Amino acid sequence: MLVPAPVLQLPVDAPTLDRLHGDACINCGTEDGPLLPAGHAYTTDGEGQLGWPVAACPDHREARP
Ligand SMILES: [Zn+2]
Repeated sequence: MLVPAPVLQLPVDAPTLDRLHGDACINCGTEDGPLLPAGHAYTTDGEGQLGWPVAACPDHREARP
């Protein structure tokens, strides 16, 4: 079962940014497709939160309820 990701504090590093852009699995970071929509991850700059539509590899997509 995939635990909801914590809200990420900005700025994030480059690999994390790839995940937020949906270019890599939000859970394990693989760029091997097919990557499937996997809801949203959230970042904060200390004031507001920003939601990012993220993707997951089939292994982690299937792990979601
Ligand atoms: Zn994955």
